[in-house]
Amino acid sequence: MFIEPKNNKGWIEVVCGSMFSGKTEELIRRVKRAKIAKLRTRIFKPKMEIRYDKVKVVSHDDNYADSFPIEHSREILKWVDDIEVVGIDEAQFFDADLPKVCNILANQNKRVIIAGLDMDFLGKPFGPMPELMALAEYVTKVHAICMQCGSVAQYSYRYSREGKQVELGEKDQYEPRCRSCYTKGMVEQEQEEDK
Ligand code: ZN
Repeated sequence: MFIEPKNNKGWIEVVCGSMFSGKTEELIRRVKRAKIAKLRTRIFKPKMEIRYDKVKVVSHDDNYADSFPIEHSREILKWVDDIEVVGIDEAQFFDADLPKVCNILANQNKRVIIAGLDMDFLGKPFGPMPELMALAEYVTKVHAICMQCGSVAQYSYRYSREGKQVELGEKDQYEPRCRSCYTKGMVEQEQEEDK
């Protein structure tokens, strides 16, 4: 459980993990606690994230908070003059400027909380996430449960290998898997393609 450090200076937190690992829920939990502490907060997300709702950050269990959809990460800088805690959801979909933007925000004494997928369905580091994890003071990796064996899961296994890096689909297309069940599934997919 992440406990907020007590100081007025800025810093960066990253919450990362696979799909269905509770990243957005954790982001929302932290922002809610900041609100209770009477801090001014705002959550941003990439405009392309239109899974359920255009304005709300929606997590898989319908726990949500209001958010600002934006196209480029630099836009965040225009909307945070009076904001003390900046949340960023689905950070993996943002452009390569996001790490720079987060550093600027933290250097302005803002607390920056980032949630995102650390790996895509091929098991590769996703977008700006690796850089953000390197720059952050605090990194929390949250885990889902493997739907094959019940172990701790860190991979987003996708049944189809066609299409974009991550389709904005849902449970029917993806399932969280542990390392060994993920690897087994990927080998099976390759064998299927070779047929
Ligand atoms: Zn497993």
